Amino acid sequence: MSGSNSRGTCVLKFLNCLTTEHDLRLVVVAAVVCIAGCFTTFRLYSRMQGARGHVRAAWLLLTGLVAGSSVWATHFIAMVAFTPGLKTGYSPSGTLLSLMIAAVFMAAGFAVASAQRSTTNDLTGGVLLGLGVAAMHYTGMSAFVTQGQLVWEHATVGLSAILGIGGSAAALVLAGAARTIKRQMLGGGVLCLGIVSLHFVGMSAITIVPDGAIVVPDQLLSGGILTLAVGSITGMIILGGLGAVAIESQTSRSALERIRRLANAAYEGLVVVQAGQINDANAAFCELAGAPLDELVGRPLMGAMLTFDDDGAVARDGMRREGKLQPVNGGRQIPIEVFSRLMDDGARIETSGLTVLAVRDLRERRAAEEKIRYLAEHDGLTGLPNRNSLQARLAAAVERVEASGESLSVICIDLDHFKEANDQHGHLTGDSLLVETARRLQSVVHAPSFAARLGGDEFIVVQIAGGDQPTAAAELSGRLIDLLAAPVVHDGQELAMGASLGVSLYPDDGRTAEALMANADMALYRAKESGRGVYRFFKREMDDTIRERRNLARDLRQGIIDEELVVHYQPLARATDGEVCGFEALVRWNHPTRGMISPLEFIPVAEENGLIGPLGDWVLRRACADAASWEKPLRIAVNLSPIQLHNPALPTLVHEVLITTGLSPARLELEITESALFKDYQRALDNLRRLKALGVRIAMDDFGTGFSSLSTLQSFPFDKIKIDKSFVENIHRHDRATVIVRAVLGLGRSLEIPVVAEGVETQEQILFLRGENCTELQGYAIGRPAPVDAIGAWTVASAVAVEAIVPSERPQPVEAKRSA
Ligand code: C2E
Ligand code: CA
Ligand code: CA
Repeated sequence: MSGSNSRGTCVLKFLNCLTTEHDLRLVVVAAVVCIAGCFTTFRLYSRMQGARGHVRAAWLLLTGLVAGSSVWATHFIAMVAFTPGLKTGYSPSGTLLSLMIAAVFMAAGFAVASAQRSTTNDLTGGVLLGLGVAAMHYTGMSAFVTQGQLVWEHATVGLSAILGIGGSAAALVLAGAARTIKRQMLGGGVLCLGIVSLHFVGMSAITIVPDGAIVVPDQLLSGGILTLAVGSITGMIILGGLGAVAIESQTSRSALERIRRLANAAYEGLVVVQAGQINDANAAFCELAGAPLDELVGRPLMGAMLTFDDDGAVARDGMRREGKLQPVNGGRQIPIEVFSRLMDDGARIETSGLTVLAVRDLRERRAAEEKIRYLAEHDGLTGLPNRNSLQARLAAAVERVEASGESLSVICIDLDHFKEANDQHGHLTGDSLLVETARRLQSVVHAPSFAARLGGDEFIVVQIAGGDQPTAAAELSGRLIDLLAAPVVHDGQELAMGASLGVSLYPDDGRTAEALMANADMALYRAKESGRGVYRFFKREMDDTIRERRNLARDLRQGIIDEELVVHYQPLARATDGEVCGFEALVRWNHPTRGMISPLEFIPVAEENGLIGPLGDWVLRRACADAASWEKPLRIAVNLSPIQLHNPALPTLVHEVLITTGLSPARLELEITESALFKDYQRALDNLRRLKALGVRIAMDDFGTGFSSLSTLQSFPFDKIKIDKSFVENIHRHDRATVIVRAVLGLGRSLEIPVVAEGVETQEQILFLRGENCTELQGYAIGRPAPVDAIGAWTVASAVAVEAIVPSERPQPVEAKRSA
């Protein structure tokens, strides 16, 4: 630059300055330091933006330090390369000051640029960087001492500053968040250009006018030492920065690796979505999606592979939604549950729009739900729809035929011999009967018709058909009767089946599921009444009588609890002398509104509704207790229903009642009818034997009304025979009756079984029976059934024969007032 003071073009001067007044090798060193420093700076800058808090501050400090020292080092190495041909030196304080200025400005620039991701911030930050480079350069120049006067060309100085600031700003804008190496290189390169152009254009603004008067002190730093010091320190700082970046990326890589391993271990699918496309996913998600990760990345997820049940396309933060996932390999859609989390953590990283979805496979849960629903709606034993689901299905069927005009019939089915089979052969046999019934029903009932099990041995068939309705229903009912009549073979044993059916038709017999069911049930009731094994269509008049019986059953249940039952006692007298030798216990029901009800009316209701057990127990207990309190040890006869006789617990019960009431077993007589034996002969006989073993007497009631009375008499040693009153009342009226009474009395004599005549109402009958050697007499002629407190005259120790046979003063007990 010596002497050349012309105001030629800047460029020429700049080139001249660079080539003639600089040691080019050192210029290259400076440029290399600059490039390395700037690139390192941007690498650090990128790390800084991913960090927060103290870590971010540390990264910023390091960025400022590396940037500042790089700029500073570039400047001083370039200064050393500057060879004006005069002795030169550098004042240490200015040199140090320029380093500090550079570092501070650099840190400030990067801090501003990264404060928010915007071009304004980048530009502002860039201006600060440029100002820093300029400030460093000219502070550094002020520390430069040479044997001459420095003359400054101000326009060129201005230009240098503009180049520095422009370059820095461009570098920041171009680098952006500097997330990729490319961006870091771009930013570093442009920043380096800015720095270098500021420096050399700035250098070309100086003209040195030699001045011998200026002494360059020897203690000033010389170029050689400076280059070494600056070069090595800066090199170390740059290496430190790079090292930090390397350590950090290694740490975060292994952290990422850990996270990925964790994510892959997760049972749930995890998928990262950016702008609707798959960005990353864990192994569980890949499995669900049916493809490896590299095939999935970049694929559109929302609205394509993944659809939500509520048809919204986007997942909102923290929301749980259900949807379907379509695997890419063409597999079946998978029901899923999705939790979404936006990854926008507020930091200025380019993650905006990143969403993490946790995807849970709902197949197992759905299958379990399905199973539970199935179990709730179906009968566990037969697999048929149960009572719960029948209501809904029937209602749906009604709706269907309303619209379609098809016909609908409801068929109630009750198995005829189920209870006996169940009691006799055990529950397993009962179960197999039910399963077989369901199988047979399903073999003839086809969709849209269906069969269901109401519980116990009750089934329902809902028939939906075209054509003439009564005909179709009658046809199906007939078929079902035949089908269910065939015996079932279980465990090598042939079991009798058979069913009774009741049919109601829509809409004549009801328009709702409830009405149709209730009326089919009533028709069933009628079918059972008319001998079982048949079907009956519902008829309006069934309604009233059946409703009546239902009410009676309901009242009886309550009546037993409320102790509305009373036991009346009817005397039995010895035929020879009229001495009362015992009583028959006959139950009555004192209904709160209907008055006294006859056992002929409510015993069958009790038997049908499972009330005979508690009722019978109560009568037995009451009668035994009453009899035990009598002064005279008269016998007490108690009637047993067939159902009681078949209960295996009967002997135990009788034993217990005898013990608790203190009644001698020899005084208790149990009356059973012949028909009671038929149902389950063997079990009935077993029970009778056990009862006899207790010392209790067994009487055959209503003898002569059964089918095979004689053979029954031979099969079990009865203690007494009671000739039915229908024969007694016809003595002398019908020859047949007289013959039968005579024959029975003769049979009793030959078998040595005492015979009792029931329903003795007249003196004529008494005389005849006595003449035929009848043992005991029972009937209104002897005494009507009466409450326990009205029979005291016969139960006291001094009691004598009844008036009908041996006339006496004693008043006759009368039966309590009875009404219908
Ligand atoms: P049953 O065992 O044949 O009882 C005799 C029935 O004949 C009684 O009718 C009695 O009042 C009636 N009777 C007695 N003497 C005469 C008479 O001279 N002329 C006429 N016309 N009838 C007479 P009740 O009390 O109405 O009992 C009817 C049936 O109810 C009984 O017939 C018995 O089978 C059943 N029953 C009564 N109490 C019980 C009980 O505690 N348990 C069970 N399982 N059945 C009972
Ligand atoms: Ca009786
Ligand atoms: Ca009788």
